[in-house]
Amino acid sequence: MKAVKLLSVVLTILLAGGCVTTRVKSSSMHFAANNVIAHRGAFKKNSFPENSIASLREAIRLGCTGSEFDVRMTADEVLVVNHDPHHGGMDIESTFYAKLRTKLLSNGEEIPTLEAYLKEGMVNNKSTRLVLEIKPSPSGKERGQLLAQRVWEQVKKAKASAWLEYISFDYAILTKLLSLNANLVTHYLNGDKSPMELKSAGIKGLDYNYKVYQQNPQWISEAKAQGLVLNVWTVNEPAQLEWCNGKGFDFITTNEPEYLLQIKR
Ligand code: MG
Repeated sequence: MKAVKLLSVVLTILLAGGCVTTRVKSSSMHFAANNVIAHRGAFKKNSFPENSIASLREAIRLGCTGSEFDVRMTADEVLVVNHDPHHGGMDIESTFYAKLRTKLLSNGEEIPTLEAYLKEGMVNNKSTRLVLEIKPSPSGKERGQLLAQRVWEQVKKAKASAWLEYISFDYAILTKLLSLNANLVTHYLNGDKSPMELKSAGIKGLDYNYKVYQQNPQWISEAKAQGLVLNVWTVNEPAQLEWCNGKGFDFITTNEPEYLLQIKR
C-alpha cells in the first residue's frame, strides 16, 4: 500500500514538472524596450498585405515591442485574421472558411487563421508581444461573447498566452475575457471610459485615439496615478508624434514602425 502511495506521489511530481516545462511563462518574455507597436503588422513600407503573416514576420524582424492584428470568426467558427468584416467580397461571419480561403491576399498568402498567426508569432520571438484585437461582431453582442471565448480557447490550445495582450472596441468582449481568466492583459479602445472605470473592471490600460487624449488630457495623469498602461493610436505623422512626445505614453501604435523605431532608439 505504501509503495502504491509513493508511486502516486512520484507520478504527481513528474506530471506537475512536465506541465511547468511545457508552459511558457510571461516572465520568460523579454519584450523590446522601445514603445512601438506595428499596426496590423509592419505592412506599409514593403507593401505587404495588412494583417498578413509577412507583416507579422516583419514587425518581429524589426524588433517592435508589439505587433497588432484583428480577429474575426467565420460562419463555421474558424478564427481568421482580417481587419474588415469582408474578405475578397465575402462577408466573413456568414461564409465558411473553406470558401473564404480560396481568395488569396495580394502576396499569395491565404487569409491567416488565428492558429497559424499564433504559431508564427511564437517562432524565434521573445521580443514582440502579440496584440490581438477582437473585432466587435456585426451580428451582435452575443456573437462577440462567443468570439472572445473561442479566442481564449485558441490561445490556450496554442500555449501562446505569454505573448498575448488583448484589445477591443467592445467593452463586453474585454469583460468576457476577464471572466474566463482575470489575469489576461486587456486594453480598451473605444475612448469613452475613464481610467477609474477601466481600473475597477480589471482592464489593464487605455488604448485610445490621440484625439481622445487631446480632448481629455487629464486622463493621461489619472491613468498613470492608477498604474494603468497608456497606448495611443494611430500615430503616423510627425506632428502627431510631436504631440505625443513627453507625455509618457507606454506604447505608440503606428503604420510607420520603421520611422518611429529610427527616432525612438
Ligand atoms: Mg486593429
